[in-house]
Amino acid sequence: MIDNIIKPLLLEDETYTKIGRLLEQEMAKGLSKTTNPSAKVKMLPTYVRALPNGLEEGNFLALDLGGTNFRVLLISLSKESGVRMENKIYPVPEKIMTGTGKELFDHIAYCISDFIHEHNIQGQHLPLGFTFSFPCKQESLSVGRLISWTKGFSCSDVEGENVVDLLHAAIKRRNDISVECVAILNDTVGCLMSCAYLDHDAEIGVILGTGTNACYMEKLDKVELWDQDKAEPSQVVINTEWGAFGDDGCLDFIRTDYDFQIDERSLNRGRQLFEKMISGMYMGEIVRLVVVECVRTSLMFSGVLGRFKERDCFKTKYVSAVEKDHGRGSFENTKRIIEQMGIKEFTDSDCSALFRICQAVSIRAAKLSSAAIVTLMNRINRPNITVAVDGSLFRFHPRFEGVMKETIAEMYNFGHQFKLMLSEDGSGKGAALVAAVAHRLKNN
Ligand code: BGC
Ligand code: MG
Repeated sequence: MIDNIIKPLLLEDETYTKIGRLLEQEMAKGLSKTTNPSAKVKMLPTYVRALPNGLEEGNFLALDLGGTNFRVLLISLSKESGVRMENKIYPVPEKIMTGTGKELFDHIAYCISDFIHEHNIQGQHLPLGFTFSFPCKQESLSVGRLISWTKGFSCSDVEGENVVDLLHAAIKRRNDISVECVAILNDTVGCLMSCAYLDHDAEIGVILGTGTNACYMEKLDKVELWDQDKAEPSQVVINTEWGAFGDDGCLDFIRTDYDFQIDERSLNRGRQLFEKMISGMYMGEIVRLVVVECVRTSLMFSGVLGRFKERDCFKTKYVSAVEKDHGRGSFENTKRIIEQMGIKEFTDSDCSALFRICQAVSIRAAKLSSAAIVTLMNRINRPNITVAVDGSLFRFHPRFEGVMKETIAEMYNFGHQFKLMLSEDGSGKGAALVAAVAHRLKNN
């Protein structure tokens, strides 16, 4: 029965509560000086201490690397007209994602140069904010050392290096543009900043996209690793890097055979295990593996695999499309996708089986992220909290947000108010806001 195959993906409410508690312990480990070196959830201080106050002004460039697309942006902030933005997407070929660091940064510098020439802003010497969506140990707003690549990247000679130096070196090699990167930030921080610009209760930033992660505003006296001045504001944004939750084995009790397989075949084996159960880079592939198991036992498609046998062939956007059929009384999307997967003969019960698999995988992902968000909300413990959220999974999946709202409301026992707020282009806007602050500090 399909039920038996799906069952390991369906977790009890108490299990999610337990996972929330485990994450709380992991976060405490990351924040404490003695246990941080061995902690898997790194809780990285970001040097972003103040949220924007709406008075930020000027023109900025921004880079957004590490999600679905690589983009260069031109952003102007003004008190009167708010934020204006132009951007261009540049593909990053897989060859570059897994090549050398030099090739990667030469490519990035090429894209910046192309963008600057296209917009005719060569003469302007604009400050640049770099949204770099990987775990970095920051030493200031403009110094961030890559701890380890995640998602689909594995460029050589970058781990351990200050990414901003590598970018500047590549810009210098070209010798045709004048750009200075004044800030490097995680996408979660950009997401939080862009919402905090509009909503002063925003204290948490979450990404549910190709990868997953969150940041939040923490009190300095809880951050033992903070060795800088403790002047007001006595707070700092912490990049949790919760994607690495479970890397010490503490989540093995819920991981299924499919999760183990995903990890086995990944570029970063044994790492980002929480992320691998949740994010867009992996969700479609989990569904595919469950389908393979159902076909192998002749429970689906009369035992015919079609393209389901090809790795990474079933995209996370198909999961969203299949679930969109729900309640429509037809399997329109589902049928189209099954055909695309090379299966010619199938029944309505095959369609509903595929739907149930997609639903099981995405509900688990939505509930795991909810449990993690509740852990952060409990830490912050304030009457009103706005959670800024961005990412392709959150944006395009038809039920993700709904399941999250329900789950958080059930799990959040302080009974305080919370809001999930979609961040509009946080990676761009947030980078400009952080760059504005960095630029101001530098010129003071
Ligand atoms: C990275 C995080 C990032 C997240 C979302 C993860 O793989 O480690 O730094 O915030 O993806 O893009
Ligand atoms: Mg992004």
